[in-house]
Amino acid sequence: MFENLSDRLSGVFDRLTKQGALSAEDVKTALREVRVALLEADVSLPVAREFIKAVEKQATGAAVTKSVTPGQQVIKIVHDELIGVLQGEGDPGKLKIDNPPAPILMVGLQGSGKTTTTAKLAKRLKDREGKRVLMASLDVNRPAAMEQLAILGQQIGVDTLPIVKGEDPVAIARRAKTQASLGGYDVYMLDTAGRLHIDHELIAQAAAVRDVANPRETLLVVDGLTGQDAVNVAEEFDDKIGVSGVVLTRMDGDGRGGAALSMRAVTGKPIRFVGLGERMDAIEEFHAERIAGRILG
Ligand code: GDP
Repeated sequence: MFENLSDRLSGVFDRLTKQGALSAEDVKTALREVRVALLEADVSLPVAREFIKAVEKQATGAAVTKSVTPGQQVIKIVHDELIGVLQGEGDPGKLKIDNPPAPILMVGLQGSGKTTTTAKLAKRLKDREGKRVLMASLDVNRPAAMEQLAILGQQIGVDTLPIVKGEDPVAIARRAKTQASLGGYDVYMLDTAGRLHIDHELIAQAAAVRDVANPRETLLVVDGLTGQDAVNVAEEFDDKIGVSGVVLTRMDGDGRGGAALSMRAVTGKPIRFVGLGERMDAIEEFHAERIAGRILG
């Protein structure tokens, strides 16, 4: 997930720990390399800058440079700062689904992995929390996407709202709500239409559905491989629709990881889950400590 960044950082820190005694200048030099590594991982410039500033402030003082293990101390500071950058409030994996039936709105661009993630989360809620989940596709312009959700539903044993031709997304959302109440479901998930770019129609549709469903969670699915673009997409969706969290997909790929590091700092929104493959169980909740551990190798 963070192979390149992780390799680069371990190179820098190996040298630092081998050096033994460290001057403030040695630490600064090492942190310049860390900064370059972060930027190469596609971390946004202001985030990288702030990060290095915060580390430098703590790591160049006498308490570190005069300690017996200065290199280790610098690593510990970087580790803690990474957690600070990554961590949102509360438990990322805990979806707000009290008061059944709880609506969850899924939004994102086409191809981001939205439908797959909808099904993965539904399966998770069913398997781990014993919830009865109903999924509905609102992608009326792409019958194949509606069909895809129905197929995934069958695969994972989660019900999908029957497809009615000619219905608009708001009507589908209303029907999902009624069906979820009458059918005694705990959660209903609305998989909204995706498009290749954020356009007026996409936003207007998602906003109309949001206003009808009054979702407990609005999860934005973004492709982690797209780096800073993923962060820009998140900013725009949050601005126009309001999201309660982000799911970063394709974190199993060889992406540079920058999106994970910049997301919360830039958008103020926590990453809640990461997608780690195409299989229905390839999803993990986003744990800042675990991710920081992976980055530092
Ligand atoms: P949507 O258009 O946003 O609904 O995207 P889909 O859910 O149809 O996903 C597009 C493709 O990406 C599918 O082939 C998925 O199997 C794949 N995909 C989704 N999430 C992940 C992930 O976390 N890792 C990988 N490797 N592939 C994923």
